[in-house]
Amino acid sequence: MSNSLPSIPLPVNEPVRAYAPGSSERASLKARLESMYSSPPVEIPCVIGGKRVFTGDTEDVVCPHDHRHVLARIHKAGKKEVAAAIAAAARAFHDWSNMPWDQRAAILLRAADILALNGQAGWRDVINGATMLGQSKSVFQAEIDSACEMIDFWRFNAYYCNEIYSQQPPALSPGIWNQLEQRPLEGFVLAVSPFNFTAIGGNLPTSPALMGNVVIWKPAENQSYSAWFTFQLLEEAGLPPGVINFLPGDGSVVGPLAMASPELAGIHFTGSTAVFQRMWETVGTNISKYRSYPRIVGETGGKDFVLAHSSAEADVTATALVRGAFEYQGQKCSAASRAYIPKSLWPKVKKSMLSMLESIKVGDTRDFSCFMNAVINQRAYDKITGYIKSAKKASGVEVLHGGSFSDKVGYFIDPTVLLVDNPKYKTMCEEIFGPVLSVHVYEDRQWESTLGLVNGTSPYALTGAVIANDRQAIVQASRSLTHAAGNFYINDKPTGAVVGQQPFGGGRASGTNDKAGAPINLLRWISPRTIKENFIPPRDYRYPVLAEE
Ligand code: NAD
Repeated sequence: MSNSLPSIPLPVNEPVRAYAPGSSERASLKARLESMYSSPPVEIPCVIGGKRVFTGDTEDVVCPHDHRHVLARIHKAGKKEVAAAIAAAARAFHDWSNMPWDQRAAILLRAADILALNGQAGWRDVINGATMLGQSKSVFQAEIDSACEMIDFWRFNAYYCNEIYSQQPPALSPGIWNQLEQRPLEGFVLAVSPFNFTAIGGNLPTSPALMGNVVIWKPAENQSYSAWFTFQLLEEAGLPPGVINFLPGDGSVVGPLAMASPELAGIHFTGSTAVFQRMWETVGTNISKYRSYPRIVGETGGKDFVLAHSSAEADVTATALVRGAFEYQGQKCSAASRAYIPKSLWPKVKKSMLSMLESIKVGDTRDFSCFMNAVINQRAYDKITGYIKSAKKASGVEVLHGGSFSDKVGYFIDPTVLLVDNPKYKTMCEEIFGPVLSVHVYEDRQWESTLGLVNGTSPYALTGAVIANDRQAIVQASRSLTHAAGNFYINDKPTGAVVGQQPFGGGRASGTNDKAGAPINLLRWISPRTIKENFIPPRDYRYPVLAEE
């Protein structure tokens, strides 16, 4: 083993299972969902240096679509646990950072296979089931996230890690050998993940760990149920104690405590822009205390657009809007939430979109025929319905579809389309993060000024789509909107980026654009050491030029 030069072949994306009626995968997942739903609440501990710590300071995790049903209780981390986790990470650093890279990669590749194959322990069903129950994702949305994207993150990152380590400087001078050593960062990386993607939870701590770093992982409160299973899967795949320390709880408690440590070497964050900016400020305030300059990687909010040109097809536009805006209740950072449609196309788009929306069922995730489920919690429900309530009262805004909601059983909000006269009305500019799409209809002749409007309306620049058949219009949109989106789509919805194909991330207020699941992200977690060896070292300080004529 020690004399081999291991290499990892380019992976293929994990195939998406269909869960069609009558299939064995559907029966197996349904059985797992029922058993998870009817089990007593799971106690979720902190895991520090491999040890389970039940702090007794608990918070319930409930089903968003059935909010009286308690799935789990998080044992929240406090000051003591954060300090213990930093110490445990420091203890794990030596052995982990010195472990051969292929052995670290093997843990992720093994985790990916365990998840992909489901097997006797049924990990694919467990993690999909936890995502469906705990985050209210439909079976399809759970499968593309917690199974396929997570598997892809682990397999592609292992492949990219191999590529990065293989890149070595040339030997251009005789007698000299140059090497590049990719060291992990000194200290620990703080990984803070959001509620809306189980796979992001699986990726944020593992990508720095793969590159030899030790990590503290703070999952989002509302994703802790599926995060807990993800963590246990990594342990089963061979992750050594202390390499990733699992600290569920309040971000506003764990974050500042971890960021106060001089050992903070990096932050791997995904979540809202406001939280990320606060974290950056904290790092700025503490900057003179750190051993090194912490690497800060954050992917944050969006106000993602669909811009149709008069040459677009109505059905293509309507489908991009319905899927882009309402899958996972609009709670994807990439969700379409503002649309610009030319007047000539609008009647057909409207008809097509409304007929699609009529057929959408909203309900419990255990009913596989529901396209939409609940929004994540009461806070999100109140915020989203607040926008709908004020839109109903605003002049120049028409509720074209939906506008109804109820939080009696679960946090349900019907898919809502607002027709908005003023393209700067607040629902066209602010991140709502729910099933609300605002549509502005523009005069066909104002195509060029509409490009400027799309570019200048929001501080975010995450995703955006142009729908057009006219190639010149596509070129114009692509040029004018160069900085308006980090993921730009042509004749497609602005969601659904696939690892290895469309690396994901945005600029402006949407983040540092370090593209999750891509080599440029892994590069943030290493600190290169250049090594020069001289095979024939000089023995005299004098250069030839100094000799007398
Ligand atoms: P959030 O910002 O509320 O929470 C994200 C994480 O930050 C959670 O773990 C939370 O506990 C933690 N946190 C909160 N306060 C903190 C603090 N002071 N210090 C450290 N950590 C703290 O976001 P959310 O509601 O979980 O997720 C939704 C947001 O995430 C949306 O804005 C969405 O656009 C964004 N998002 C972006 C991407 C992307 O790739 N750009 C992907 C997914 C989600």
